[in-house]
Amino acid sequence: MVRQETIRVATRGEGDTHDLTERVARVIASSGIVTGVVNVAGKGSTLAITTIEYEPGAVADLQRALETIAPRNDDYAHNARWGDHNGYAHLRSALLGTTETFPVREGRLCLGTWQQIILCEFDDRPRQREITVTVVGQ
Ligand code: ZN
Repeated sequence: MVRQETIRVATRGEGDTHDLTERVARVIASSGIVTGVVNVAGKGSTLAITTIEYEPGAVADLQRALETIAPRNDDYAHNARWGDHNGYAHLRSALLGTTETFPVREGRLCLGTWQQIILCEFDDRPRQREITVTVVGQ
């Protein structure tokens, strides 16, 4: 059995994060699938899908780490080549990844108590994001 739905999120641009956990859990619940996997896939090359304890401290720590690894105002070949200003965003997206897959066990999303699925927006402008949630199992 397979169920697929699209979650739409309007972001405010760089640094914006959204907790997707409840929306993913609702797709699983409506699928009727008891045992399987759920894939959460963000569309685009300037966003990330990951998990974190979704509280302001941990989110700020993640942002600070990303600013250290891929500073917003650094020199990027992408910016020089295309006249873009979001080279940092592509790099952060590539490093964190745009999809995650989780087990579905006993009809529920299998996550830790303090583990939430989040969308991280890195682009330098607000975006309309599409996240495809695919539940596969029986
Ligand atoms: Zn770009």
